[in-house]
Amino acid sequence: MNKITNHLPTAELQALDAAHHMHPFTANAELAAKGARVIKSASGVWLTDSDGNRYLDAMAGLWCVNLGYGRHELAEVAAAQMRELPYYNTFFQTTHVPAIALAERLAELAPGDLNHVFFAAGGSEANDTNIRLVRTYWAAQGKPEKQVIISRKNAYHGSSMGSASLGGMTYMHEQGAMPIPGIVHIDQPHWWAEGGDMSPEEFGIARARQLAEKIDEIGEDKVAAFIAEPIQGAGGVIVPPDSYWPEVKRILAERDILFIADEVICGFGRTGNWFGSQTLDLQPDIMTIAKGLSSGYQPIGGSIVSDRVAEGLSRTEFNHGYTYSGHPVASAVALENLRILDEEGIVERVGTDTAPYLAERWATLAEHPLVGEARICGMMGSLALTPDKAARAPFAKVGEAGMAVREACFANGLVMRAVGDRMIISPPLIISRDEIDLLIARATMALDDGQAELS
Ligand code: PLP
Repeated sequence: MNKITNHLPTAELQALDAAHHMHPFTANAELAAKGARVIKSASGVWLTDSDGNRYLDAMAGLWCVNLGYGRHELAEVAAAQMRELPYYNTFFQTTHVPAIALAERLAELAPGDLNHVFFAAGGSEANDTNIRLVRTYWAAQGKPEKQVIISRKNAYHGSSMGSASLGGMTYMHEQGAMPIPGIVHIDQPHWWAEGGDMSPEEFGIARARQLAEKIDEIGEDKVAAFIAEPIQGAGGVIVPPDSYWPEVKRILAERDILFIADEVICGFGRTGNWFGSQTLDLQPDIMTIAKGLSSGYQPIGGSIVSDRVAEGLSRTEFNHGYTYSGHPVASAVALENLRILDEEGIVERVGTDTAPYLAERWATLAEHPLVGEARICGMMGSLALTPDKAARAPFAKVGEAGMAVREACFANGLVMRAVGDRMIISPPLIISRDEIDLLIARATMALDDGQAELS
């Protein structure tokens, strides 16, 4: 970082940012007019901006800083690894200690026979790997026609052409001719918005059965895999009805297709276990991982693959890989992150203490006049904003209420995200009970202020 730039006043930083920096998922001219928020430092669950304002970061950055900010052990490990071996690749029959150690640890932590790791630099790359991996796997089994991947509407699996095609965001598909061929989408288990007159349980079963119908329509001999997040994150923290996953499991058990659990958000303690698949009792053939793997301290992701799939691919040269697959610094930092999450009992504390406490407090927000439902699983929660609770009605102008509450959150020193008119949280896993109380108090103030703004 340039020392002079770091000490510029906020307005000058914003002007430089507007002149040269293109932001993701942003209309840059609109942002330039108001100026980007400049985050300067962070510690624990707290962010500080360039004007000295402090915010409780209830989003853990972008769902990733599971360990919280400011863990210097990770910086020390990164520096030591940079001195010893800053980079080497894992192509050409070569490996190195950090990649070996991280793969071994992940195999130990992952459920079932998920014992093999293909590394990437993030979740999008890992899901691109998965598309090619499942198709190559079936070809290697003498079934090259098994190519189609079934995903869900409103799912988020990344931003590259492959992973965004897996995702079910139509506003992304519209830019760049997606989805790519061979990817189809079924409906999501979003009872609040789409359940109509059905009970949540009936609706969960109905949505799960769409998977069976889609497989039968395409033909099992043409379907390679089904991909899903255990709990949809970026789609608005959609916690499915309890009936959904058992029915999906039953359908998958009867059919010979692979199941990819995208654990990019749900993994590494977020749902109160190491993986969302454990919380929801799923048995994936492949898990996509990223984010909490390094708590965001380094860009790293990957696919954890079962014995069956790895064995089925083992005599095929898989013509795929990234310069930064198994990057030594990222791997070393991820390993240290996993050590701390484990040795400090952070995942366990989420499961047995802080997540149940957050759930209890989060549920009280459903009493707010603006909130229709408050859903939560572990450390991921959502609030549906509505003008009419009983009717589960959406606002006439979608996104206006969410934006009003999101801005009110910032004004009250809280970072929550709005997905349309759903407010979502995913705080660092180290959040304390006192900080949870503060989160709820600030969220309540933001809901009050947002409601005042709307009326
Ligand atoms: N999968 C899920 C479930 C995600 O939430 C994300 C990112 O938010 C991704 C994949 C993509 O990961 P990345 O942004 O690291 O490419």
